[in-house]
Amino acid sequence: MGKQTYQFSTSATDFYFADSITHLKEIIDVKHAVFITDENIFKAHLKRFKNSKVIILKPGEAHKNQETVNSIIQQLIAFEADRKTILVGVGGGVVTDITGYVASTYMRGIKFGFVPTTLLALVDASIGGKNGIDIGVYKNIVGVTKQPSFILHDFSSLGTLPETEWHNGFAEIIKHACIKDAAMFKELQQHSFKYYFSKKKETALLIERNAKIKLKVVQKDEFEQADRKLLNFGHTLGHALENQYELSHGQAISIGMTYASHISEQLLGFKQTEAVVKTLEQYGLPTYFKFDKAKVFDVLKMDKKRERKEMNYILLEKIGKGVVKQIPLNQLEKIIQSL
Ligand code: ADP
Ligand code: ZN
Repeated sequence: MGKQTYQFSTSATDFYFADSITHLKEIIDVKHAVFITDENIFKAHLKRFKNSKVIILKPGEAHKNQETVNSIIQQLIAFEADRKTILVGVGGGVVTDITGYVASTYMRGIKFGFVPTTLLALVDASIGGKNGIDIGVYKNIVGVTKQPSFILHDFSSLGTLPETEWHNGFAEIIKHACIKDAAMFKELQQHSFKYYFSKKKETALLIERNAKIKLKVVQKDEFEQADRKLLNFGHTLGHALENQYELSHGQAISIGMTYASHISEQLLGFKQTEAVVKTLEQYGLPTYFKFDKAKVFDVLKMDKKRERKEMNYILLEKIGKGVVKQIPLNQLEKIIQSL
């Protein structure tokens, strides 16, 4: 069991890469733990939750809302959870986002940790301390930034992960490659998701590499004043599309990255759009997509990356080098109309 501790501004997170949930009892006092998971994970991994206090959520982003938060809090009260309680989120990004949010507010804040069970949560959602919920179509519009006490990777859960969820995870991996890691982009170009699907060791290495890309960015800029903004590549348009068109997060940001590459072409002379699009497609992700431009722009302009009349849009100078570009809203509206 190897522990790697990452220090953030006010707290630290212990990482256990390529580990096993059976070691949890050596990390925390399980007597004080309440597990939060969703129905699918609970059914697929019943053994993990034997003799534990468990709160089981309905799966999916549609339930990442205040109603679910209220229900969790009622169950915590029923379990007589107190300030010594530690919440352990076992699941994908929906479970980890809600777990961190509830833990940060219940009794003004109790400890929490994650065992991410999707590729997306392993490389992205569980890392960085952003916790929150959606209100209507507005994604993550309410939340807190607070780091988990620990993150434990147990790859055995990937065995039951549906194929479409692998695609979702690769959307964030390709994003990391586009903004920060040209060498990894080359590696991804040479394979497809089927290769990683069947190769445990290569997948483990890829997961650790991506978790560390995100960790490094977050450590440098926890509160998203500069570099962390880059992680939003594909997300501005992606979030606006996601809940309106019933796309998964990975699908939505894949479309977002496709159009952000085109905008990068227009504004920065970016020349590798075709390579980005082809790689996304190799990993089972959608790229070009017909959408109601006016309707989507209405939601897009409420994005958290907006600063008054300008939007911080993430573009690519070249693969491996993302940049933040401030685009006036009226210009952005015209660009979106022209896509
Ligand atoms: P994301 O990490 O993409 O935000 P979600 O929390 O929405 O993920 O989970 C995506 C879907 O995958 C949900 O339906 C969830 O129940 C299911 N899921 C998560 N992890 C596993 C797993 N290890 N095995 C099977 N299904 C899983
Ligand atoms: Zn994302």
